[in-house]
Amino acid sequence: MSDTPLTVLERVFGYHSFRGHQQAIIEALWRGEDALVLMPTGGGKSLCYQIPALLRSGTGVVISPLIALMQDQVDALHELGVRAGFLNSTLSREDTLATEQALLNGQLDLLYIAPERLTQPRMLSLLKQIPLALFAIDEAHCVSQWGHDFRSEYLQLGLLHEQFPEVPRIALTATADMRTRTEIAQRLELGSAAHFVSSFDRPNIQYRITQKSNARQQLLRFLRNEHPGDAGIIYCLSRNKVETTASWLQQQGFNALPYHAGLPVAQRRDNQQRFLREDGIIMVATIAFGMGIDKPDVRFVAHLDLPKSIEGYYQETGRAGRDGEPATAWLVYGVEDVIKLRQMLESSAGSEEHKRSERQKLDAMLGLCEITGCRRHALLNYFGEPGTGACGNCDGCLHPARTWDATEAVRKALSCVYRTGQRFGVNHLIDVLRGSENEKVRQFGHQHLSTYGLGTDLPAASWRSIFRQLVARGLLRVDVEGYGSLHLTEACRPILRGEETIHLREDMKEATERSRSRRH
Ligand code: ADP
Ligand code: ZN
Repeated sequence: MSDTPLTVLERVFGYHSFRGHQQAIIEALWRGEDALVLMPTGGGKSLCYQIPALLRSGTGVVISPLIALMQDQVDALHELGVRAGFLNSTLSREDTLATEQALLNGQLDLLYIAPERLTQPRMLSLLKQIPLALFAIDEAHCVSQWGHDFRSEYLQLGLLHEQFPEVPRIALTATADMRTRTEIAQRLELGSAAHFVSSFDRPNIQYRITQKSNARQQLLRFLRNEHPGDAGIIYCLSRNKVETTASWLQQQGFNALPYHAGLPVAQRRDNQQRFLREDGIIMVATIAFGMGIDKPDVRFVAHLDLPKSIEGYYQETGRAGRDGEPATAWLVYGVEDVIKLRQMLESSAGSEEHKRSERQKLDAMLGLCEITGCRRHALLNYFGEPGTGACGNCDGCLHPARTWDATEAVRKALSCVYRTGQRFGVNHLIDVLRGSENEKVRQFGHQHLSTYGLGTDLPAASWRSIFRQLVARGLLRVDVEGYGSLHLTEACRPILRGEETIHLREDMKEATERSRSRRH
């Protein structure tokens, strides 16, 4: 009996049915056609090229920039009885030669290879001597100069079409926006490829984004009330914060481990293995953790710091609930996060154009935090999916945010920034507004300003929320020199002149505080 996609799925991989577009993609490749595949992380992209590589005669060549993962992928295939090998700079000369020989002898079903290796003339002439089943270009968004993962070697992959016109090609990515998609098709010369676009919706993930008040207490409440004993990942921006948070959680009785690129390799590997093998481990990590991690029962992903982009947020939260069971994506953020990220961005190396693109991404992420409607709808919209209205499984849907006419308060905040000389950060501005009598206020003589004490009607938390939203909306700009002082922007004018009103999001906690302070 001859093999079909389904028999290979069952016999080799032990699964009984295909997911989403897998079958259609596999059949297209099997027939010798090209394909462009957009599928979220965890969607099952690997089978889309592994199965047709097994069905067709010759070797399937998989191009991937993730050389650190190749060994694992090849080991996993060996376990399944698939003849696979890889070629990249980590291999010794002997191993390289042995793999090349196996390739020439027709002993490999799959060959994983780094792009810079593939495009070497020597490698290309080697490949011309043997039958090839297909080329799979993984992480195909690396060809996009707009993206965060641009690799110049990917630009040369267009040559595959010219030099191997008979070999079908499949490009795969989890990055979905339209611009990247068009760019991939163009640069990789996939003009006649069918596009298979999966929905990026992860309906079992509940999205929640809250304002930071006391992050540790908020986290503790979240873990104890909603995820006792569950496995999860907690992302922090810095290595130092990863370590302090992990040891604090251990003191609180949680099974927490740290992970960041600064830890010794052995410890990193051990922690990762424990996370994968044991139940209920909480991994506290920088974004260095997660690439290629396939653990189905991660029940939550928490962010203690704001991600730099929606792409990052989606990738990181996407590691939750791969088994399809309910999971939570939980994020707390505050005005300090926004300021810190803006500062990091402005003081980073890199061209002005790169910074502009990073700025836009951060602004989009802030936009997602500040919206008052359905988070999922906004998220999918960002990836070019029109969406279907409110999802019922995010904080925006479950606890619709109220807005309030903040025009008066905003005017006070802006004029306080102005009168203090646009030289101070949020904390001092709030001290001035709330009429605090501390040293710094007196040192600068700010108790004599007309805005001094004008803001006693609102608690400090409300003022933080106001400043945060003003930064997010571009009415205030963060100092690039690094002290976090706030400056007015052009956009403030209509409000200061009294020509415009402004409505801000009413954060739940403050809403109660505000009504309480009104009552007293
Ligand atoms: P991606 O590369 O898109 O992130 P993977 O190819 O690593 O995703 O697949 C994610 C997980 O889903 C893997 O554990 C894989 O074995 C599993 N998987 C993929 N397709 C199927 C299927 N049809 N049935 C069951 N499990 C699947
Ligand atoms: Zn929703």
